[in-house]
Parts: sequence; C-alpha cells; structure tokens
Amino acid sequence: MKKNAISGCDPERLSAYADGELSRAERRAQELHLDACAKCRALLSDFKALGAGVKRITAAKAPRDLKETLLLLARQRERRPGRRRRPA
Ligand SMILES: [Zn+2]
Repeated sequence: MKKNAISGCDPERLSAYADGELSRAERRAQELHLDACAKCRALLSDFKALGAGVKRITAAKAPRDLKETLLLLARQRERRPGRRRRPA
C-alpha cells in the first residue's frame, strides 16, 4: 500500500506528522516531501508553532477571544509546560 507521498501536498498528513502520529515509513515519506516542498515546510512550522498550543488550550477550555489565545500561546511557547494541562 505505498502511495506516492513525495509528489503531493497533504496538509492532513502534514498535521499528523507534526503531531508525531505517522508511522516510520510515513514520516520518512513526509520528510522527503518536505525536503522538496517549501510550501509544506512553511505549513509545518505553522503547525509546530500553533498546533500544540491550540490543542492544549481547546482541551482545557474554549478560549475567550483570539487575543487571549495568542498571548497564551506565546507564553506556553516560552515556558514549554509539557503536558501538565492535559486532562486526566
Ligand atoms: Zn507540499
């Protein structure tokens, strides 16, 4: 079941890659694509910058407004609190 992962941009797979949800083979294919695709590299850095923080926040509670969310994200990026906020 090999797909030609190198040729196509796939934001969903890229998101899964950023979350570490891909198999080793899929990761490798995604890395090869990233090597050749500046668009996906830019998208990946967005996912890495925002994805984890957004998930943490939405898992804890809905953000009150966008400004607060962005401020919180910035703080979380500095402090790197790990998974403290994950609900038990
Ligand atoms: Zn791409």
